Amino acid sequence: MSDLRWTVTIFFTLLLSGNSAHAFQAPAASQPLRPAEIRKTIRLLKPIHKPLGDALPGQWLYQHKESGQTFAQYVKIRPNVLTHRRNKLYVQPIGDFSEKQTELIRLSSEFLSLYYQCESVILNAKPESSIPDSARREHPQWKVKQWLTSYILEEVLAPELPEDAFASIAFTEADLWPGDGWNFVFGYAMLRDRVGVWSINRFGNPADSDEAFLKCLQRTVKLATHETGHMFSMKHCALFACNMQGSNHLEESDRQPLGLCPQCHAKLLFATGCRPAKRFKDLAKFCHDNGMKEEAKYFELALEKVQR
Ligand SMILES: [Zn+2]
Ligand SMILES: [Zn+2]
Repeated sequence: MSDLRWTVTIFFTLLLSGNSAHAFQAPAASQPLRPAEIRKTIRLLKPIHKPLGDALPGQWLYQHKESGQTFAQYVKIRPNVLTHRRNKLYVQPIGDFSEKQTELIRLSSEFLSLYYQCESVILNAKPESSIPDSARREHPQWKVKQWLTSYILEEVLAPELPEDAFASIAFTEADLWPGDGWNFVFGYAMLRDRVGVWSINRFGNPADSDEAFLKCLQRTVKLATHETGHMFSMKHCALFACNMQGSNHLEESDRQPLGLCPQCHAKLLFATGCRPAKRFKDLAKFCHDNGMKEEAKYFELALEKVQR
């Protein structure tokens, strides 16, 4: 079992409140798009997306024979979608975060709200002491602090899941491991219980420099939006370069785009009922304001396409 398996991050398929400190509101449209309108966006966005070529050794699709999931296939599985009752994303920081890490989580929560066009709420951080000795270890070789994912999901998040939560997501500063036989995971989630946990431990130190902060931000928002996509029942993408592609390691993930391909974008419209133009406009502004130039360019281009 490779210790570099980014893929081991999340086992959605296996397992298929506190006071808020910050809330970001991106109100959903009153009327969801009709299926024909959603399908139209697939045609409009297709020209600006690259189909995936053959997978190369080391890449996710080289090792995992996944066929992907079209929009039509997605609709058939009766995916998890936002409802009037469950329509918020909760973010629960756990651990002693530095000022820069706290800023990173605030921005990531805001980005999640814009990406999925729903309200996101950051709960007050829980201290490191909320993880008991029985759920922590020092990695035998690397000597890094690690927390047990199952404890966080089952004992910290699930009992406090707010009624109106579509999902509750913990961010930790400690590294994570899911139990015996594993070295580490970037994250882990239980789809059925709508809880997930991701660590920012391996994304670099955001306090090192402005460039390091930007890199950490790009990685954190990509991880958070990819994994939340799984919570919306999206499978890995095998069709285009896309944020829902699987990845074996951080380098592979770094090369993948933050935007969704036309098929996965259609799934998001179906799951959230949002308006694509508003979403692209919001995302372009966020990326522009936070120095994510390439990403801003993509969202501006996508905005142009869907406005036609
Ligand atoms: Zn994934
Ligand atoms: Zn896709």
